[in-house]
Amino acid sequence: MDLGIICQNCGIEAPSKYVEFHQNIGALVVRWGKSYKGHLCKRCLHKQYWSMTSTTAVAGWWGTISFVLTPCFIVNNTARYVAALGMPGVPEGAVPPVVTDEVARRVGPQIEAIFKRLNNQEKLEVVAHEFAPKCGVTPGQIVRYIQLVARNARQNAEDNRPTGGFPVMPALPIKMPPPLPAIPIEEG
Ligand SMILES: [Zn+2]
Repeated sequence: MDLGIICQNCGIEAPSKYVEFHQNIGALVVRWGKSYKGHLCKRCLHKQYWSMTSTTAVAGWWGTISFVLTPCFIVNNTARYVAALGMPGVPEGAVPPVVTDEVARRVGPQIEAIFKRLNNQEKLEVVAHEFAPKCGVTPGQIVRYIQLVARNARQNAEDNRPTGGFPVMPALPIKMPPPLPAIPIEEG
């Protein structure tokens, strides 16, 4: 089973499974549809499934298109839900992973090795699980740190774009002294 590390719904570090749930509300001539796609922890899996499926089961039927869509959505949601039910539950005391200075200090020396693995098309989940014990952090902290580094790199690339490949002048580290006043030449 392909498990994620962070729940995309509540943000905690817990085993998560990719699901797609659909909701339909029919009102004869109009209908309102809503989808959820993403990795969910087991807690959010229950919550999303029951909320979206029960809304559809109650309010989904009114309208011709709705009458066709509603059973499809209920079947799809239930099949996805049942398939994901075998995943491990949320660990006791699970919290959203935070990248502190300490985490950055521990993961920093491994960052090159981590990116090398990711550039070899290895899965972030697999690499994070492998490097977490080496660095003494959680896999979720590795995922968040990688996202931060990637975002910064992207930001830097965007900041440097207008130069069109020309080297960028580094900002001067010290303030230049004010120009010396002109010395009047005395004639006489
Ligand atoms: Zn969750």
